[in-house]
This record gives sequence, C-alpha cells and structure tokens, in this order.
Amino acid sequence: MPVSPAMSEDLAAAVADLYEAAQGVLIQQIRDALNEGWDSPLWAQLKMAQLGTLQSAINEVIVALQANASGAIHQAVAEAYNRGTQAAVAELGAIAPTVAAIPAGSHAVDRIAQSLIDDTGPVYTRILRQSTDVYRAVIGRASAPAVLGAQTRRQAAQAALDQFANRGVTGFVDRAGRAWDMRSYIEMATRSAVARASVEAHTERLGAAGVDLVIVSQAPEECPLCRPWERKILARTGAPGVRQVQVQHATEDDRTVTVTVAGSLPEARAAGLLHPNCRHTVSAYLPGVSRIPKAQPSRGTFEDTQKQRYLERQVRKWKRRQDAAMDDAARTAARARVRAYQAKIRELTADTGLPRKSHREQIATAR
Ligand SMILES: [Zn+2]
Repeated sequence: MPVSPAMSEDLAAAVADLYEAAQGVLIQQIRDALNEGWDSPLWAQLKMAQLGTLQSAINEVIVALQANASGAIHQAVAEAYNRGTQAAVAELGAIAPTVAAIPAGSHAVDRIAQSLIDDTGPVYTRILRQSTDVYRAVIGRASAPAVLGAQTRRQAAQAALDQFANRGVTGFVDRAGRAWDMRSYIEMATRSAVARASVEAHTERLGAAGVDLVIVSQAPEECPLCRPWERKILARTGAPGVRQVQVQHATEDDRTVTVTVAGSLPEARAAGLLHPNCRHTVSAYLPGVSRIPKAQPSRGTFEDTQKQRYLERQVRKWKRRQDAAMDDAARTAARARVRAYQAKIRELTADTGLPRKSHREQIATAR
C-alpha cells in the first residue's frame, strides 16, 4: 500500500477541531460578556470593568486547549507513523507477519510532534490578544457618541463582533508568506507533520527491507507543485538530480535493469511533493517488476478544488456568525447563508465529479 498525505488527513482534522471548538467558546464568552446590561447608561464602564474576568475565562480556555492539543498532536503523529509503517508492510507483501505499532515515545514521533508543538506556541498569545482586543473594540464602537440608546448600541456591538466572527482568530503567516486563519493554519501545520511521519515511517520500513527506489503516482487532481514528479522514479535517499542507474532485478538474481531516476525523495519533497492536501502517493519501485502507471485525465481541475475549499471556508464563517448572534434574527440570517453556500458546493461537486467533503464544512464544537 502506497503512502500519501491523504492517509493521515483525518488525524489533522481532529487536532484542528480542538482549536476551532475553543474559538467557538471564546466567541460565545465574548458575546455573553457583552450581551447584558444594555439598559444601563454605564454599560461601557461596566463592560470595561469586567475585562479582567473575561481575560481569566479566556486564559482557562487557552490552558485547556494547550494541554488537549499537545496530547492530540502526539497521538496523531504516532498514529500517522504507524500507518506509514503498516502501509510499507502491506506493500512488501507482509514478509513479517506482524509489525509492532511504533509506540508514541519513539524518537521520530517525539521529534515531529515536538516541532509541531513548538510551531503552535505563538498561537496562544495571539488568541488571548485578539479576544481581548475585539472585546475592547466592540465596547468602543458601541459607545461611540453617534450611537444612542440600548437597541442601536446593541446593533453596533453585534456589527463589531460579527467582524471578528467572520474571520476568527487570524494573522498566521506560513513560511511562504501566505496568511491563514487559525483553523486552517493549525490544520495545515498538522497535516504537514502527520504526512512527514507517515512518509518517514514508510521509507524507513522500505529501507529496512532493502528497497531503494520509489515511484510517484498519477493523481486524480494534479497539483502544480507535483506535476514534475508525477509517475517518476525517485531514489529513497541520496543525491538529487536526474540519472540512469543500473540496478539488480527485483526477483531475478542474475539480471540488471536500467532505471531512470528523476531525483531523490527528499529532493522532491523539498520542492513540494506530498505537500499538505496533496493527492499523490509514493510506493516501492521494484526494478523489472513495478510498472509505471499510465497518464490519466483529471477529474476536476486544481482550480475547482481550490474553489471548493473557498466555499467550505464560507460555510464555516457563517457558522461562526451563528455563534456570535445576539438575537434570533441574526442567527436565522446566518443559517440562511450557511445553506446558500452549501448549495453552491453541491452544484460544484455535481458539475465536476469532485467528492464532497462534509467534514470540511463543519465547525467543531466544544466537548
Ligand atoms: Zn501534490
């Protein structure tokens, strides 16, 4: 069984769910802290006086999130590593009848999990700062001189809180300089870590069995980054660059086979192969035995999949607006937008044949 980032995607979703659920709790905490005492002429002062209480509540959410996330990350990486190992075992024809699961304490798992935990460190400061900022900003907007009376004050507060709910906690920038919202950032970082765990485990296991070459699959929705590597043979380790090598036939002792190697797996991965959301897989290449797959037409284009991701983000945004809603009218309006975007997704998947990914349209709620 080949190894792919897709085989561990579900594990990343579980980690990202924790952050999204925490964000939902924060939006509701801010809403509830604001949404009382509207009739008091001292509303703004009262709300500012409660800032410390809100901050303590936010801190509690963050501490719980940190603990849960660290456990969930270790678990996800260990499971991804295990799946990578099992995939290699299945592919090698299960020479060894059982391979013990790699325990979560193993060195590779710890290293990958810890590096992800380190990367998520700044997330918590950002959550606290943005939640506090938005609370202050809502109070400021709702008590501006132009805003008079409890009803208009509440409307102004709702509008300001909606702006936060629209985007959630933001401002995450990856190494390529792209900006992400919190859930997408966490999910992307976790996907890349679990993919690394699966691929490392797979290649370790192939190496232990003496397999030095791998082959990249043909993917249904080809990603531009991977196009140069598609259906190419790569050296599992070693030097980069295209070359022809003479290798021993996989099953016949006194035969050699000439293989064109397009580069090394680490080289291809550094160039983007098996990036998060990648649909490609890598499997053992047995000289003289393995066949190079035929080129196939794609299902939807890469742009179609990006459009689907966009629509899924809109669904999640309007679900957050439901969380921020201070009254039934706002809640009903947000729900209608959720349905409208879901209808667009149904249309797109029907037109293109792309699979619908309902889990990407969910926002996680706190357990
Ligand atoms: Zn790809």
